[in-house]
Amino acid sequence: MMLRLKNFEKGWIMSANAFANAQKQLELAAKILLAHTKNAQEKQKLTQKLETLKNPNRILDVMLPVTMDDGSIRIFHGFRVQYNNNLGPYKGGIRYHQDVTLDEVKALAFWMTIKCAVAQIPYGGGKGGVIVDPKELSERELERLSRAYARAIADNIGAYKDVPAPDVNTNAAIMEWMTDELRIMNDELRIKVKENELRATFTGKPLNKGGSEGREEATGKGGLFVLLAALVKLGSSGQGLGSSNKNLNARRYTLNAPLTVAVQGFGNVGFNMAKFLHEQGFKVVAVSDSKGGIYVPEGLNPELTLQCKQKNGPPAGGLVGCYCVGTVCDLKKGKTISNPELLELPVDILVPAALENQITARNAGRIGAKLILEMANGPITPDADAILFKRGIGVIPDVLANSGGVTVSYFEWYQNLKNLHWSKEQVNKKLKKYMDKAFDGVWKTREKYKTDMRTAAFLFALEKIIKKVS
Ligand code: NAD
Repeated sequence: MMLRLKNFEKGWIMSANAFANAQKQLELAAKILLAHTKNAQEKQKLTQKLETLKNPNRILDVMLPVTMDDGSIRIFHGFRVQYNNNLGPYKGGIRYHQDVTLDEVKALAFWMTIKCAVAQIPYGGGKGGVIVDPKELSERELERLSRAYARAIADNIGAYKDVPAPDVNTNAAIMEWMTDELRIMNDELRIKVKENELRATFTGKPLNKGGSEGREEATGKGGLFVLLAALVKLGSSGQGLGSSNKNLNARRYTLNAPLTVAVQGFGNVGFNMAKFLHEQGFKVVAVSDSKGGIYVPEGLNPELTLQCKQKNGPPAGGLVGCYCVGTVCDLKKGKTISNPELLELPVDILVPAALENQITARNAGRIGAKLILEMANGPITPDADAILFKRGIGVIPDVLANSGGVTVSYFEWYQNLKNLHWSKEQVNKKLKKYMDKAFDGVWKTREKYKTDMRTAAFLFALEKIIKKVS
């Protein structure tokens, strides 16, 4: 047993591998839990319980043959990782990206396990991924691929087993194709599943197909609620969120010097986050996508910027030239910047909302923000975390900051199962309640263990998850 304990304590090799990073985070929290357990027998039991979280319960590794528009057949490779279901059915999005790896999906599934426990919703954690650049597929090919993936994982998903949702490069239309494919399969196999249970198998569906009001923007809205709650706390005690940002809350209300924000990623999460922050009086000075970013010191208008980006269209342009301030886009008002440059801007708040491993030991020393709101999953590596902590830069961790998405997914699932339909106002009111409760739980745990917000979130979640191991 000492040997196992030592494994948790000895420290793992720092890596850009997201799963190794996730395990390092688990290890840090486990070490604290163990240190707070004095009785040797209890310590041994706790170590064994924590061991159950070091690997996923189940990994589905699937090959997906898809007929392309030219009649050829291409085989795509996908995964579904069912990490842990101690607190309820597995829950997590499906990612389409050319760089998807099994380790990345395992990390994301693990973070979902922690996130659902932090959000206090009755789910475990899972995640799916397909290795594909969806931009290279026609819409028909994308539909065939999505239906093939649904078929491949069909036996292992369901409203009470595993509930997938959208993630990077997947959306409501894809969730509907997958739901429909399951319906077809059930008919073929003469399996009777109630329509509302079938719908509750996927969340993030279109509104007219059982989707929830407010789901599209829920992750951004939840992030805003968490940020506002954090800024209120910073008014009294900034400890644990970084020492350099105690005056942030006071400045929040200063109209002539609003808090400045840079947002990396301009997709579902990044755009909505930028929009809500702009509406709340924050000054969004930079945004970016996979092709690069724009810096508009006067503060940009996210909605106009999105319209401009869509008008520019792929492959040329994108965000370039979309220096939209107030109601106009003016070339003189901004400049293009790279993603690494955006991350280092001297802003009050940095919002990584793209992919993992963006802030590493290589650039953590140059991050110019006072506070980081992690809206993407895993954008900061553990070694970078340590550097930021030393520099007094506060981090509101992903498992708390972006949990609004899965929370409204839970509302969608609940409405499907109970045949309810809540208005957007009802959804947003409930979302605020859940986000405030999650923030509060993490904040109190941070105070109890005198640790940073990420470790506190892990401790808060682990206490709930391991309680269910008999
Ligand atoms: P999305 O596909 O809608 O948008 C992703 C954005 O990131 C795009 O603008 C893309 O151009 C940009 N991007 C991709 N690679 C980049 C790079 N190397 N540098 C800079 N930008 C890059 O995806 P999303 O749903 O907005 O998800 C973004 C992040 O938020 C992911 O980490 C995802 O796991 C996480 N997340 C999403 C949700 C949700 O509800 N959608 C919930 C929780 C967490």
